[in-house]
Amino acid sequence: MKDVEILIQLQEVDFQIFKLRNTLENDPIRIKELEQQYQNKFAFLKGLEEEFKKVQVEHKEQELELGSREDAVSKYKTQLYQVKSNKEYNALQLEIERMKADNSLLEERIIVILEKIDKLKKEIETEKKVLQEEENRFKGEKAHIELEMKELKEKLDGLEAQRKRIISSSIKPEILTLYERILENKGELAIVPVKGEACAGCFMAVRPQVLNELKLGKLLTCETCSRILYVAGDENKT
Ligand SMILES: [Zn+2]
Repeated sequence: MKDVEILIQLQEVDFQIFKLRNTLENDPIRIKELEQQYQNKFAFLKGLEEEFKKVQVEHKEQELELGSREDAVSKYKTQLYQVKSNKEYNALQLEIERMKADNSLLEERIIVILEKIDKLKKEIETEKKVLQEEENRFKGEKAHIELEMKELKEKLDGLEAQRKRIISSSIKPEILTLYERILENKGELAIVPVKGEACAGCFMAVRPQVLNELKLGKLLTCETCSRILYVAGDENKT
């Protein structure tokens, strides 16, 4: 087999290896992104639960406050029966009215707090369901990606073995070195066909002289992108 033919075979395998490695590099990033989405939902629920606790404490405090204020009102009311003068009676009555007005303001505040508690409770229930769904989705996708990675790694092992077999066939070491240096630079393709008298790697025109020499079986690289060129069957007829 000619060197170029071996290189074309090698390129086919290397291109698959290139794509597999890309996927294998991206898969853990995908898992991290999914995990982050789950963590965000988790943090949101925790935030709601914290707020819920705080509002509950506030509610308890306000109820206690209201209780002691109502006690004070009752105490003042019993004092009404014990006062001696009208003036004192009126002053006490006024104070009781003032306290009652304050208490009804406090009651209104408590109602607002209770509404908030109710709203938070519903929100937490909803978010718990959302989080559960998110967790299931995350676990499912993670398992799926991990399985895919396992399969891809096995496939990669197979390709690496195939690559070794191709290299061990009779390819000139200096040509292999050239190919591998270009592959390292370009990442994807090191040997490309000439298509419509242009390099299929960079799409720049190939000079007729170069094309002729390629057709004669010479190993040449593209003058623009430095990739190794070859002439495929179709191009030979033109
Ligand atoms: Zn080129």
